[in-house]
Amino acid sequence: MRGIAEELAGARRVRDLAAVINRAKPDLARVLASRFAPLEAKALTVKLLNILLARRHFDNRDSRLLSQPIGLIVDPSNTCQLACPGCVHSDSAAPLFVWPNATLAESAFAGLLKQYGTAAVGVYLSDYGEPLLNLRTPALIRMAKRRLITAGLSTSLSVRRFDAEAYVESGLDFMILSIDGATQSVYQRFRRNGDLSRVLGNVERLVAAKRQLGSATPVLSWNFLAFEHNRHEIGKAERMARELGVDRFRVVRPFDIGWDDPSIRAANVRPRVKRLTWKFADNWNPFPRELAADEIESAFDARFEAEEGTPPTSPGHTCHWLYKNLIMDAAGRIMPCCGAPGHDGGLVFARAGEVDPFNSPLYREARRHFTGAPAPDVHCSRCVWDHTTVNIGGREIRAYFRGAGRAYFNRGCLRLLSDW
Ligand code: SF4
Repeated sequence: MRGIAEELAGARRVRDLAAVINRAKPDLARVLASRFAPLEAKALTVKLLNILLARRHFDNRDSRLLSQPIGLIVDPSNTCQLACPGCVHSDSAAPLFVWPNATLAESAFAGLLKQYGTAAVGVYLSDYGEPLLNLRTPALIRMAKRRLITAGLSTSLSVRRFDAEAYVESGLDFMILSIDGATQSVYQRFRRNGDLSRVLGNVERLVAAKRQLGSATPVLSWNFLAFEHNRHEIGKAERMARELGVDRFRVVRPFDIGWDDPSIRAANVRPRVKRLTWKFADNWNPFPRELAADEIESAFDARFEAEEGTPPTSPGHTCHWLYKNLIMDAAGRIMPCCGAPGHDGGLVFARAGEVDPFNSPLYREARRHFTGAPAPDVHCSRCVWDHTTVNIGGREIRAYFRGAGRAYFNRGCLRLLSDW
C-alpha cells in the first residue's frame, strides 16, 4: 500500500494518477484475496485505492476528482416531529432555512449507492431529519451493508411506530440515542415535543430485540448534550442507560444555539464516553451471501480515465468536506457539508441523479476557491464553519479497516489511510 501511495505522490498529471490506480488494482486484490473472499477483496481494493486517491487529490488541492466520497450522509426523512432550538425544525429558526418535507425513496438511495457505494466506507443515515420516520430505513441500511459500508444513524427515538427487530436485523452498526435528560420536564426543555417515556420504552424494545436475536449490533450510544439546565441529571441518566442495557454513555458539548434560544446555554462540562458493555460487535459483512456483486465487480473493473492535464498544486488551507464526504437529503438535494441551505440556495451543489454530483460545477468551483482562484459566488467563499472535522473521516476510516480485519491492516497502513 505504501508503494502505491508513493507512486501516487510521484504522479504529476491526473492521467498518471489514473494509470497508477489502474495498474495497482489487480495486484492489490490478489494480495487481499489471501485473507478475504474474492468479492470482499475486490470491494476492499476499490475502497482502499479510493482513499489513497482522495488523499492525493486533497494534498494537491485538485478541483476535479477521480476519487469518490469516503463517507455519505443521507437523510431518510427530512421531517422531524421535534422542534429542538438551533435546528431547521425549530419554530423560530425554520424561516431562515429551506428544508422541504420529504421521504427518501429507495430508488434514490439505490442510485447514490450505485454511483458511490462501493468506494465508500461509511454511511450516516441522519442529518436534520428523524430517520425512524421513514419506515423503509431498515431496508436502506441493508442496502448499504450489502456494499460493505459501515452504517450508523442518530435518532431521538421519540416515535410511535418503531420496529426494533427490523433495525437489529438490518445490519445497522451503531445507533446514537439523543436523550438529554432523565426526567420529562428537563428533557423537553431542549427536545421540544419529545416524550421521554416513549423514548425509554423504545430503548427497552431495542435491547430486548438484540438479546432475542443474539446480536451485538446496533451498538447503542446514549448521547447526552450537556446544557446548564440538564447537567444535574447527567449522573442519573448514566445510571438509567446502564440499567436499560445501553452499550455506551456519552456526554457531548453542544453547539451554541443562543442565536435561536438564549435561555438554553451549553454547560461547562468535560465531554466523555463511558463504555457500559464490552461485547465485541463483528459486523463488517453481516450478509456475505447478499453482497451487491454486480456493483462491486463493475466498480472493480472500471478503468479510471483522466480528462484534465496538470492539476494545480496548492499547499494552502482547504475544506476537508469537499474531498471526503457528500450529503444528500430526502428530497435528493446534494450538499457538500452539514450546513443547512438558506434561501440563497448556495449550499445545494447538485441533485440526485446527475452524472457525477461530486464533480458538479459548484463542487469544482468550491475546491478551486481554496487554491486562490476568484469564486465570489460560491457559498464556501463566505463560510466561517469548521473546515476540518467531517462526519466520516480519519477515525471512521481506522475503525472501518479494523472491523474488516483487525490483524490484517497494521498501524502504518491505517495511518497512511487516515492521517490527513
Ligand atoms: S467551506 Fe464551509 S460551506 Fe463549503 S463545504 Fe466547507 S464547511 Fe461547507
